[in-house]
Amino acid sequence: CGIVGYVGPNDTVEALLNGLRRLEYRGYDSAGIAVVDETGGISVRKRSGKLARLEELLAENPVSATGTGIGHTRWATHGGPTDVNAHPHLGDDGKLALIHNGIVENFAELRAELEADGVELVSETDTEVVAKLVGREVAETGDLETAFRNVVKRLHGTFTLLAMHRDEPGKVVSARHHSPLVVGLGDGENFLGSDVAAFVSATRRAVAVDEDNIAVITPEEVRITDFDGNPVEYSEFEVEWDA
Ligand code: GLU
Repeated sequence: CGIVGYVGPNDTVEALLNGLRRLEYRGYDSAGIAVVDETGGISVRKRSGKLARLEELLAENPVSATGTGIGHTRWATHGGPTDVNAHPHLGDDGKLALIHNGIVENFAELRAELEADGVELVSETDTEVVAKLVGREVAETGDLETAFRNVVKRLHGTFTLLAMHRDEPGKVVSARHHSPLVVGLGDGENFLGSDVAAFVSATRRAVAVDEDNIAVITPEEVRITDFDGNPVEYSEFEVEWDA
């Protein structure tokens, strides 16, 4: 439903929560974040219910992030609004975290393929299947962008997807297909959002990612390609916003 991604030197949890608060108007049933934490691992905090419940969880069980994170508000389509079904979802080895807006139509077939491979799924979502597939591809190819592209090309349906991997901190990869995706250009930091509300309190400089494109952000760089990895040129626009 609502999506935010952050790479940069500032308070990562706060940047994600800020974005999620501004995306609340869209309606949602669960909220969650994943960050690269100070041990270099992926930490996830997620809960069904309002953002206030996620904030309570973070107060009880805080996490120190080191500049890479993704956040999601969920509107359940596959699997009820439970803590386990909330995003982010993890790859099999816990090294990759992924969030998703939309519906993966061919998830049953992909799920069967994973199960045949002995991969255990913990949620009922279509999204977790994608997380497990990308995680498995990273383990095979050793490269998040290659892995992400390989999996995105196999998906049918509608999606905005964001993923990050503990072995490539400082990077978030994203893709869109019949679902919106915008990049926010900061100064030494960059953002991704399902709409500009996700980052407008930090920057008004934005790039609209085109249909069937992949955007990769690091604090210093934004790169956009098609699903085959061919570079795509983009232009930036100024967000108009009263608030
Ligand atoms: N289909 C996914 C799910 O049910 C994503 C829903 C959304 O767009 O929030 O978890």
